[in-house]
Amino acid sequence: MNEVMNVEELFGKNVFTVEKMRVRLPREVFKEVLRVKEKGGELSKTSADVVAKAMKDWAVEQGATHYTHWFQPLTGITAEKHDAFVTHPDEEGRMLLEFSGKELIKGEPDASSFPSGGLRATFEARGYTAWDITSPAFLKEDATGKILCIPTAFCSYTGEALDKKTPLLRSEEAISEQALRIVRLFGNKEATRVTPSVGLEQEYFLIDREKYLKRPDLIFAGRTLFGAPAPKGQELEDHYFGAIRERIGAYMRDLNVELWKLGVTAKTQHNEVAPAQHELAPIYENGNVAIDHNQLVMETMKKVAGRHGLTCLLHEKPFAGMNGSGKHDNWSLVTDNGINLLDPGQTPNDNMQFLLVLACLIKAVDEHADLLRQSAADVGNDHRLGADEAPPAIISIFLGDQLDDVVDQLVSTGNAKKAKEGGKLQTGVSTLPDLDKDATDRNRTSPFAFTGNKFEFRMVGSSDSVAGPNTVLNAIVAEAFCEAADRLEKAENFELELHDTIKEYLTDHQRIIFNGDGYSEAWVEEAARRGLPNIRSMVEAVDALLTPKSVGMFEKFHIFTKSELSSRAEVTYETYSKTINIEALTMIDMVKKQIMPAVMLYSGKLAETVRNVKEAGADASVQSGSLAEVTEKLGELKGALDKLEGDLKKVSAYKEAKERAFWYKDCIFNDMIELRAPADALEMMVDKSMWPIPTYGDMLFEV
Ligand code: ADP
Ligand code: MG
Repeated sequence: MNEVMNVEELFGKNVFTVEKMRVRLPREVFKEVLRVKEKGGELSKTSADVVAKAMKDWAVEQGATHYTHWFQPLTGITAEKHDAFVTHPDEEGRMLLEFSGKELIKGEPDASSFPSGGLRATFEARGYTAWDITSPAFLKEDATGKILCIPTAFCSYTGEALDKKTPLLRSEEAISEQALRIVRLFGNKEATRVTPSVGLEQEYFLIDREKYLKRPDLIFAGRTLFGAPAPKGQELEDHYFGAIRERIGAYMRDLNVELWKLGVTAKTQHNEVAPAQHELAPIYENGNVAIDHNQLVMETMKKVAGRHGLTCLLHEKPFAGMNGSGKHDNWSLVTDNGINLLDPGQTPNDNMQFLLVLACLIKAVDEHADLLRQSAADVGNDHRLGADEAPPAIISIFLGDQLDDVVDQLVSTGNAKKAKEGGKLQTGVSTLPDLDKDATDRNRTSPFAFTGNKFEFRMVGSSDSVAGPNTVLNAIVAEAFCEAADRLEKAENFELELHDTIKEYLTDHQRIIFNGDGYSEAWVEEAARRGLPNIRSMVEAVDALLTPKSVGMFEKFHIFTKSELSSRAEVTYETYSKTINIEALTMIDMVKKQIMPAVMLYSGKLAETVRNVKEAGADASVQSGSLAEVTEKLGELKGALDKLEGDLKKVSAYKEAKERAFWYKDCIFNDMIELRAPADALEMMVDKSMWPIPTYGDMLFEV
């Protein structure tokens, strides 16, 4: 039986919340912490010591023995090195646990073993982690015990960002500064900060751990590199929002508890489209914290799965022929006096501030579509973007009927006199209430959709860090705000200039708006006609980082230097090559050690059967037909294997990271597809009891 759960008590139990600081810190220090958290600046050394001691006392009371500076290197996941609170024992051998302000604020992990993309040589090992006071410290509980985790940014000795958090924080500062200029134009004098609000819907697969452990491809690559389709896939659409099975339900319950303790507002859970696929969405919060929390969500999903004999797959495409997993990045901008800049209100046509913000966003997305696309690229996402089920690789904006109509009016006449209203939805059943209808329907095929009072960037991969996409989003919008503010602040006639600016931006960038079916072939052609970029792969997307417009923008707003951008490009190419290399080696391994031996054994058995049947004087044509088919496919398999092995040897000829990545994409990746085909065909021929790995049917339907 489930015991009663007290969510109010559980929530934030493992977080050093503002509330806990208020109780534990002297009033003055507490006020100083709040000030730095909200307005920036530095804590004094003495205050830092006081905060560190309070944090340590709380953590130790909860059973913590160690602390760590928790950071987000360019691997896309988090890193931690634990240090115990222990110090030198005193003369009588007593241990006093200590944690100083200095240890809280600054750490020095060895930076040489994290990817830096050439930002630093291996012999220069110094890297620093710096406390991010805006994201709360928390306790991680696992087999290691309880660890006090302090969210930090990670920089090199020379101050270059070696992580994903530093540029994100810089981008949040930039957008705050520029958005404030916009709201000031409309008379808002109270706001002192504008913060992105971010809500991240996370998709994932759960499969049985025993089966997972029998699949080297899942272990090494996180996705199946082989596997014929099961007789049933997702065609009946019976999994989406279906009743949650007991074993999965127990997992979700446990996951929610762990997340609530960490202060993550896990809110929505449901089955997703593909069998064995699910989704979790927390409530939106301040961007930086939401992004830290998403890392915790991903980590906790994996950890809790183990306790239930399950494995959580976060890969974007664990199963071919089935929907993959993404992450929807819901994004809006909120002032500290509570105004959401993306809220159109009832009459968006009258809301000039909203229209300016919208026009800036449309401009930003159109001008930097390539960068946005790049920000959502990762190796796994190459299997989704541009394939049928996910957003296309082409960036476009969905506005919906109401706003689209407002934009049309503005572009054609310069004025928007009216806005379409939602009206009532009549159910036609007298006992059911009539519902207020939104002015706009939804569109699930758009990569960048306006959904009421926020934009939803739907391209991001399920396993990816969302720091990158949000950094880009903040940066491009900051740039558009800055341009608009430069123009409007010095306008002689504000109303007129505002009107002209909105009209000009919308007219120039209307091509990015698309409300139709983003999955259709017709859109691909239409987008090409409109001149919108269609960047099909991760490696092709990298160039977007280093265009003059990208470098110019990031440098202007102090988000990335050119060398920081080059380092990201380098790391991206390398990550791609290394990942595909691992996949290729895994395939070779599985073919040689598992699939070929199984097929040989089976064909041997068939041959024996043919002989026996013939000897018994019966017709063995079916048996020998099967044998011929199997051996023919085996021949194809061997041919494809030799080709892949041969091509892998040629990789050493490509010295530059970029060339190498393209070699993996254009050659190795295709060889892998060629190798998979005969293996999957063989799976359909060979006796199931002899097939060496669990099948799609085993993994997806027997969870
Ligand atoms: P939808 O059905 O439009 O996807 P949901 O209400 O399910 O919307 O929300 C999806 C995610 O978007 C949730 O994480 C939610 O908290 C978040 N969200 C809702 N409103 C906002 C907003 N104004 N800004 C950012 N995120 C938001
Ligand atoms: Mg959504």
